[in-house]
Amino acid sequence: TNPVFTGLPTTIFEVMSRLAIEHGSINLGQGFPDVDGPEDVRRAAAEALIAGPNQYPPMMGVPALRQAVAAANKRFYGLDIDWKTEVLVTSGATEALADIFTAIIEPGDEIVVIEPLYDCYLPMIRRAGGIPKLVRVTPPHWELDTGALAAAFSDRTKAILINNPMNPAAKVFTRDELTFIAELCVRHDAYAICDEVYEHIVFDGREHIPLMTLPGMRERAIRIGSAGKTFSLTGWKVGYVTATPRLLDPIAKAHQFTTFTTPAALQQAVAYGLGKDDSYYAGLAGDLEKKRDRLAAGLSALGFGVVPCAGTYFVTADFAPLGLSGSDAEICQRMTVEAGVTAVPVSAFYDGNAPATFVRFCFSKRDEILDGALERLGAWI
Ligand code: PMP
Ligand code: GLN
Repeated sequence: TNPVFTGLPTTIFEVMSRLAIEHGSINLGQGFPDVDGPEDVRRAAAEALIAGPNQYPPMMGVPALRQAVAAANKRFYGLDIDWKTEVLVTSGATEALADIFTAIIEPGDEIVVIEPLYDCYLPMIRRAGGIPKLVRVTPPHWELDTGALAAAFSDRTKAILINNPMNPAAKVFTRDELTFIAELCVRHDAYAICDEVYEHIVFDGREHIPLMTLPGMRERAIRIGSAGKTFSLTGWKVGYVTATPRLLDPIAKAHQFTTFTTPAALQQAVAYGLGKDDSYYAGLAGDLEKKRDRLAAGLSALGFGVVPCAGTYFVTADFAPLGLSGSDAEICQRMTVEAGVTAVPVSAFYDGNAPATFVRFCFSKRDEILDGALERLGAWI
């Protein structure tokens, strides 16, 4: 019989969430908030569902959302974006990534990617025929080795894929690092795929700097955002891509054959949400910053080596100081089964030879859930 293709792995999020459900564990593994985003945004979706139409919206996205994405690019980053030709709405950032890889990768093209990396990147790049050139940063400092990064670029480089703020490292790239990356892109005539889904979740007064705003990058960067993160509505799967028409065109071609479109009512509601005032955005980051501090302090008190977190809703912790033996994957398994708390092993975000004693916790949870998890861990350790 013809073999069925089995080359794709099971994502760590599915593995850990399934185990968490099976054992009634507090799930700080897979990244999702346990409180839904703003009620007025959800109400806007409900109203749009009732009012309709509920037929296929335009392939590129409903005009209101494309206009809102262009306006947000101006408001937050000073970017002048033409909503008609430079914005595409997708079914989540994940679809955006798939469309981008489909559109720009020719078999044999090299894509520079920084480890640790979000789990869909490598399988999708490889299925598109791309060759990932990996450069790694490691805990606790996640420092970018600029020499290694420069060495990863060549005349076969098609693009760099950069996730900023970075999951799971919680690293926010500095302007100097971004400038270095931009210069490499210009020198090698490479594009930059910028996964910026956590753009509004940065802490301690940091600012998010889209690579697209740096010299030479307006025509090279493909910027991805997600309503899942910006409005704590991960189940909606509404994403958006901003890029110059020459790049957005082929990406939209891939989108038309992938999903063609995204539910209209959700697009209308996200359009409304993007216009929310500054206090909403400040509140999102401010609330999460307090939760970060709550979980980080609790983990430190238990003896974990907590790694600094500059953005995203993930904190990474080293369990080596606790004297626990076993790999990070084994510890996450045992923590779920024995302690009733689920985390994700950081090695899952590397392509082999990973740091082996770090686990990632999601802190976008109610305070009592975070406290409950800390209490369980305390009883277990
Ligand atoms: N990129 C990164 C870095 C993410 O963490 C996520 C969400 N988990 C995604 C992309 C996917 O976003 P979406 O749910 O909008 O597809
Ligand atoms: N982005 C989320 C995380 O990093 C998970 C998304 C998913 O489950 N596909 O945990």
